Amino acid sequence: MPTQNSSNLTAEYVGRFAPSPTGPLHFGSLIAAVASYVDAKANRGLWLLRMEDLDPPREPPGAAEKILLQLQQLQLEWDGEVLYQSQRLSAYEEVLESLSSRQLCFPCSCTRQQIKAMGSIYDGRCRKRNKPPQEAFAIRLKTDPVETEFDDLVQGLFQQNIGRDVGDFVVRRKDNFFAYQLAVAVDDAFQGINTIIRGFDLLDSTSRQIYLQSILGYPTPRYGHVPIIVNEQGEKLSKQRFAPPVDTKNASQLIHLALQFLGQSPPDGLRKACAAEQLQWAIEHWRIQAVPKLANIPQDSLR
Ligand code: GLU
Repeated sequence: MPTQNSSNLTAEYVGRFAPSPTGPLHFGSLIAAVASYVDAKANRGLWLLRMEDLDPPREPPGAAEKILLQLQQLQLEWDGEVLYQSQRLSAYEEVLESLSSRQLCFPCSCTRQQIKAMGSIYDGRCRKRNKPPQEAFAIRLKTDPVETEFDDLVQGLFQQNIGRDVGDFVVRRKDNFFAYQLAVAVDDAFQGINTIIRGFDLLDSTSRQIYLQSILGYPTPRYGHVPIIVNEQGEKLSKQRFAPPVDTKNASQLIHLALQFLGQSPPDGLRKACAAEQLQWAIEHWRIQAVPKLANIPQDSLR
């Protein structure tokens, strides 16, 4: 299968950071950026950048550019060209057509309320539909009750029975946008990504991605899910919850805090060093085994 890297960049380790430009980087997304960057560089790997701009109504103008600028100011330099998911729609369409020609997916117009009434796991009731409904519909992938299991670099063994615990999941949304699960599986394979370090909130999505990889004949990368930041209510620090953007004027302080959060114990003497120097220290001393599984630090303590 052609991958984006086969022609130019090569390394044994290919990692990535894949922000959704729903706003500028906040401290939560910075953690995923720093962890994936340092892990890639400590393994002499490539760190690619993919802009997951698949949901225009949720993307304020200029957010993608702002994220790129913030990463540069934090000295997090990516390898190669940025891949924009908005430029990849025909690839997703092709994959969807192939799933459809294999009769692995089906249209479904069930509402959120109906799915809630099913116990939140879709029960497959539209599988037998033979033509698309009049009303707006999503496309779901048929799932079998197979166990998926992977050994997460941070969280350890994770198992899920995709058919039983997740059910037939959406690959194209009712609003016609491609679903994250489909795009991410297609692009990780396209970019030749073999190690994915990202936030813990995506642990639960991983089995769906592994399931898609197996159906599509893609290799499965290694995964590591680092802790995310939650507020006092246990909610994820996210752009939707108006997490403040990181102020890159404090780049070195931010990197220092991120490394502490990731259990790397950067020496106090490094606190005043510039971001690049701190990152270099982290690359030389990186221990993924030291990353805590969970770190429910209230966001206020990080101000
Ligand atoms: N785009 C996703 C986000 O910003 C991350 C996707 C991934 O790392 O797989 O939450």
